[in-house]
Amino acid sequence: MSRSEDLFKAAQTHIPGGVNSPVRAFKGVGGTPVFFKKGQGAYLFDEDDNQYIDYVGSWGPMILGHAFPDVINAVRSVLDNGLGFGAPTEIETQMADKVCEMMPSIEMIRMVSSGTEATMSAIRLARGYTGRDKIVKFEGCYHGHSDSLLVKAGSGALTLGEPNSPGVPASIAEHTITLTFNDIDNVRQAFAEVGNEIACIIVEPVAGNMNCIPPKEGFLEGLREVCDEYGSVLIFDEVMTGFRVALGGAQAHYGIKPDLTTLGKVIGGGLPVGAFGGKREIMEHIAPLGPVYQAGTLSGNPLSMNAGLAMLNALTSTPGIHEGLAAKTEYLTEGLKAVATAKGIPFTTTAVGGMFGIFFTDQPEISSFAQTTACDTERFGQFFQGMLKEGVYLAPSAYETGFMSAAISEEDLDRTIEAAGRVFDTFAK
Ligand code: PLP
Repeated sequence: MSRSEDLFKAAQTHIPGGVNSPVRAFKGVGGTPVFFKKGQGAYLFDEDDNQYIDYVGSWGPMILGHAFPDVINAVRSVLDNGLGFGAPTEIETQMADKVCEMMPSIEMIRMVSSGTEATMSAIRLARGYTGRDKIVKFEGCYHGHSDSLLVKAGSGALTLGEPNSPGVPASIAEHTITLTFNDIDNVRQAFAEVGNEIACIIVEPVAGNMNCIPPKEGFLEGLREVCDEYGSVLIFDEVMTGFRVALGGAQAHYGIKPDLTTLGKVIGGGLPVGAFGGKREIMEHIAPLGPVYQAGTLSGNPLSMNAGLAMLNALTSTPGIHEGLAAKTEYLTEGLKAVATAKGIPFTTTAVGGMFGIFFTDQPEISSFAQTTACDTERFGQFFQGMLKEGVYLAPSAYETGFMSAAISEEDLDRTIEAAGRVFDTFAK
């Protein structure tokens, strides 16, 4: 038995499923989760001393690789001052200024401790600001696990939303309208019927929770137009895309200005952080300036702020970092596709900046949730397990995006592509 297997067995005694977040349990790919003890640059090291090239990056924040020296030193530099005061600190203002400078649509920002809190709070703010209850989200997008967002569509686009987890009251779910990502006609139709009751649209500008699905041309523009027409708030959930697909996030990459933006992961440099921000006029409705309540004991925690600010400073002071990430991502996806094609494996990829998707399908392009769910997830599981044995750590689910880091070298990419070739060879057997 490996040490990971031992540890997983022990973990299950007191931790439900042995994990503190469900996707870690490997249910989507089979096998036993790997227990890690260390991350350094491009690599992860497990409890059995195996080394992996990491394409998960703690689900996004490790854009510069693990244990990036500036980030680690920033945390170290404040450790001895104490771990938190629940009172204002100067670093919070520096962080707020930095984010507002990097994402000009954000004129005011509030720090929270997770992406879930960020989206939950942004939705409350949008509802408080507009005085409306209904919200729109898209099937396949994930915005954390707050009650209003753990909702699936009813039988038709405009039927009442239904809880997609026990514990979410139907009376909350019914206010959530779930529409089709990349289908602007579907959105226009919904707004034509109940637009004046819709507080906000929340969207992942590049969907990263149904594998990686970029927006079709005109989709994000259409959302902007619809929100302007009906006085609804447009929320870009940039928890994954923020500072990753471009320095200014997906909103800079596609040139669309949302009213509110939610951020997470990345701005903590790996420590627990989230944030929401946007137009001053809307943000002024948040307590203590305005009547919409939102709070947090750990919000703006000095360790997280120092780590996150060091991360953002490193990103802004490294010219061409996002071009480099995009080039590496393209090299990887093109390389994987070439090997798959040569071996007769139906395979499609997507890529935006440092995010990528791999799909076992004969469909040449993937732009919808329906297409992603029609892919061969069993084959993905086989691929995942094969790559794991080859020392490559991919997200343990066919519905998660891949994450590139600046620490991954060309040699790592070549090793990954060669490993994929060997794994593809096992498919026919
Ligand atoms: N929004 C998006 C786009 C996410 O990908 C996630 C998490 O993966 C969240 C929100 C929730 O963030 P957290 O897990 O920090 O609560």
